Amino acid sequence: MNVATTCPYCGVGCGLRVTRAPDAAITVAGDPIHPANAGWLCSKGAALAETLGPDGRLLHPEIRGARVSWDAALDAVAAGLARVRDARGPDALAFYVSGQLLTEDYYVANKLMKGFLGSANIDTNSRLCMASAVAGQQRAFGADAVPCSYEDLEQADLVVVVGSNAAWCHPVLFRRLQRAKEGRPELKVVTIDPRRTATSELSDLHLALAPGTDAILFNGLLNYLRASDRLDLEFLEMHVEGFAAASAAARATAPSVPAVAHACGLSEQDIARFYHWFAHTERVVTLYSQGINQSASGTDRVNGIINCHLATGRIGQPGAGPFSITGQPNAMGGREVGGLATQLAAHMDFAPEAVDRVARFWGTTNVARKPGLKAVDMFAAIERGEIKAVWIMATNPAVSLPDADRFRAALKRCELVIVSDCVRHTDTTACAHILLPAAAWGEKDGTVTNSERRISRQRAFLEAPGEARPDWWIVTQVARRLGFGAQFSYETPADIFREHAALSGFENAGTRAFDIRALADLTDAEYEALAPVQWPVTRSARRGTARLFTDRRFFHSSGKARMLPITPREPANLPGAEYPLALNTGRVRDQWHTMTRTAQSARLLLHVSEPYVEIHPDDARAYGVVEGALARLTSAFGEMIARVQLSRDQRPGSVFVPIHWSDALARRARAGALVNPATDPISGQPEFKHTPVRIDAYAPAWHGFLLTRHPGVFDADYQVQVKGEAHWRYELAGDTPFTSWPAQARAWLGSHGEWLEFEDAKGGRYRAACIDDGRLRGCLFVAPTHELPARAWLQALFAAEPLRTEERLSLLSGRAPLATVAEGPIVCSCFGIGRDRLINAIRRDGLSTPEAIGVKLRAGTSCGSCIPELKALIASSGRRVA
Ligand code: SF4
Repeated sequence: MNVATTCPYCGVGCGLRVTRAPDAAITVAGDPIHPANAGWLCSKGAALAETLGPDGRLLHPEIRGARVSWDAALDAVAAGLARVRDARGPDALAFYVSGQLLTEDYYVANKLMKGFLGSANIDTNSRLCMASAVAGQQRAFGADAVPCSYEDLEQADLVVVVGSNAAWCHPVLFRRLQRAKEGRPELKVVTIDPRRTATSELSDLHLALAPGTDAILFNGLLNYLRASDRLDLEFLEMHVEGFAAASAAARATAPSVPAVAHACGLSEQDIARFYHWFAHTERVVTLYSQGINQSASGTDRVNGIINCHLATGRIGQPGAGPFSITGQPNAMGGREVGGLATQLAAHMDFAPEAVDRVARFWGTTNVARKPGLKAVDMFAAIERGEIKAVWIMATNPAVSLPDADRFRAALKRCELVIVSDCVRHTDTTACAHILLPAAAWGEKDGTVTNSERRISRQRAFLEAPGEARPDWWIVTQVARRLGFGAQFSYETPADIFREHAALSGFENAGTRAFDIRALADLTDAEYEALAPVQWPVTRSARRGTARLFTDRRFFHSSGKARMLPITPREPANLPGAEYPLALNTGRVRDQWHTMTRTAQSARLLLHVSEPYVEIHPDDARAYGVVEGALARLTSAFGEMIARVQLSRDQRPGSVFVPIHWSDALARRARAGALVNPATDPISGQPEFKHTPVRIDAYAPAWHGFLLTRHPGVFDADYQVQVKGEAHWRYELAGDTPFTSWPAQARAWLGSHGEWLEFEDAKGGRYRAACIDDGRLRGCLFVAPTHELPARAWLQALFAAEPLRTEERLSLLSGRAPLATVAEGPIVCSCFGIGRDRLINAIRRDGLSTPEAIGVKLRAGTSCGSCIPELKALIASSGRRVA
């Protein structure tokens, strides 16, 4: 078996080759002929084969926790939706879907809700990551159209990366940029981010601006371009409207470099350098992501960026354009079908003629006539009891929404909660009345669209376990039960794709950007063999379209693009006396969303295994928190506990926490609980990057960690579960001491076998290890502070068996016998190379390049995701990075 498919994680959309050996072992490698990645994969993609196990899968339909047949579950879903619609009207229903769905799944869900149930209350979790980019592009171009291709990054002479830690969040795209710069060192990279990140390691200039001041920076740039006579006047005259108002707003709000420097907290020299480079470089790509989008003024920020490209005509040409990159694998596909509540279908809105067109195409008279509720508004309507039934597909909003505790409570009170998922136990499935087992990646057929508009096939290579079924099948079965069988007669994903493609071309005389009509007649075999292709795919562009707007025509009725006057606004809430720090949230390199898949890979958990808060050392001192200890973060909305990491890369006054941990993996560690639910008034995207918080030392009565061969639940106030090789690790802390640690250890680990123990009851210290037949079964270390032995050596003992004498002797010290090399936190996940080993080698052997490290230790020579961190280690070791 050798199957070409697509990675299910980020919006880069890397192609994969999946092979199965005669012993059934699955191997996942990069597809060398996929245009997005040419064979490269990041650490997450490279570990996909480790996440395919059956552990934790939802295998059978359930109603209120009891296993039922598919017929019973589907009947109950259809009856529940019909009951609520008939009693309360269609707007009492909602679907909350996901950028993890395939386009075919998305298409039928959208068609059912907007075309047949008669409400537009279907929104997607992509609302949380890129709705501002959608709204900004619609305002500027008249369509949600991403102008660029990945190759534009390689052809540019200046790449401006704004609000994106691409090195961690879009690693293969970052690698393409990195290689382009290696080949052409004159290619300049500017990173704009309040934090210094792994992405900043590549940059010629890093602007660590004050949080929330991007719009001032880009207004200042527009003003500078005008004042220094660097506008493309002909392009503005012929192809753009709105310049005068946009320019006036820029002049009023960012009149000079010193004014911008003051507002953004940057030096005048750095701003002048950035502006000069932008003004005097023709080939400029501005790459932006969640740091721009996730804001209560995200749409304006997007337009502030696009304004500068329109003013200079740097769009629709090789190596030039504003380039929004999406977080999820099929956020773009969702936008194409109408998965956002604010779009109807195939890039049509709710104008009467669009509603009429879609109604005729679908053969229905019941098309929704107005936009539905956007994600945060939808959950607020659930809270108010206005929405009575919600169907959540392939997403975990109880963790990922802002103000997550409040919306989880709302979900628990909702009359009917249906969840389709492939995982049995998530924070959201815990709120469900009906659970529908969905097929997972590897078991599903369909298409996804990546950030450069490239449609790629996702192909099944595994049998779905238990009774799991594809999402499109589940939705279709419910639609049939609701009486819409004729319009939902699909037998295969290819049937759905052909209809989706036909709708894109239906009465589309070049007025809608999304047009793949040339794919509407694919045979089943052609669909099966479909090669990656960028839309539009029309009769005259059958091989797709790499770059939009090359003809200088935009999708507003005038045919022109539009510049918008931008008045920068401050974040919705500013830090003050009660909550003095600005919370920024984001991803870590080796985890994906709420970790339902990536936490199954022990290797991926080596890089970052515990929720953390990154804080500048000066702030840490001021607020009394120390490296490695636990801290409590509190906002006006909720609280979380996280391990403290000091970093001078963090801007003073700001803290950063990752978004990934859920109650299913940790206790009191959901970042979403802290986040302000304020949203952008146009896009509805929440302000994930700026919530005022306070930080205090969390001082429990005891700290500990437990290693065991079997997963479990332990009665601690703070608990984080980490999967390891042949064992599980639990980081623990408790507010109340147990009366007897030896008894507690036996309650948690089982009392049998040989026990080694040390207790200092007065000092609150306890260490124990239990051994079965010479093999370590488990161990527990407890102390009154966070200062406990390093875990790595003890963890490694679970794979080594039986224990050697010197290992037994060292067990309770928690320290490796002298000959063992200290590894430290893992930097290179592919080869398990840790920070301590890297630093030793850099110092001892004088290594000054990632290549030299690669030759010596292999680190960085596989997926390359750790190369920015290798460079940072070289630099922090006092060596000049060669
Ligand atoms: Fe998957 Fe990594 Fe490629 Fe993103 S960059 S699609 S996570 S392999």
